[in-house]
Amino acid sequence: MALGGIGSTCINHRSIEAVGRCKQCGKPFCGACKVTGPTGVFCSEECKVKHENFIDRAQKLDAKRGSLGLKAKLRKLVSTIVFILVLALVVGVIASLFEIPVLSDWVLRVRGIVGM
Ligand SMILES: [Zn+2]
Ligand SMILES: [Zn+2]
Repeated sequence: MALGGIGSTCINHRSIEAVGRCKQCGKPFCGACKVTGPTGVFCSEECKVKHENFIDRAQKLDAKRGSLGLKAKLRKLVSTIVFILVLALVVGVIASLFEIPVLSDWVLRVRGIVGM
């Protein structure tokens, strides 16, 4: 077995020991067929381009997902705050209707914050 050999032969040269496997399609290649790109080693130029496109898309998708996640979190936070404020106001209305002193005091404070 040649150095760095993976125990199989090149897909293009059946008599030559493969030196690695394509990162895109997983096929073995020899030193002559090896194509090195920024994202790894490949059996052909075609696979290199395919993999680069794949990485590019994955990164863009990740970035998109990341910003979407942040927006979703913000939206959730805002809706939670709105929910709490609405709940506080409802409790306030009930409290003033039934004149519950402790609650009324608390509600007045909330009303002060909301500006009502
Ligand atoms: Zn390939
Ligand atoms: Zn080869």
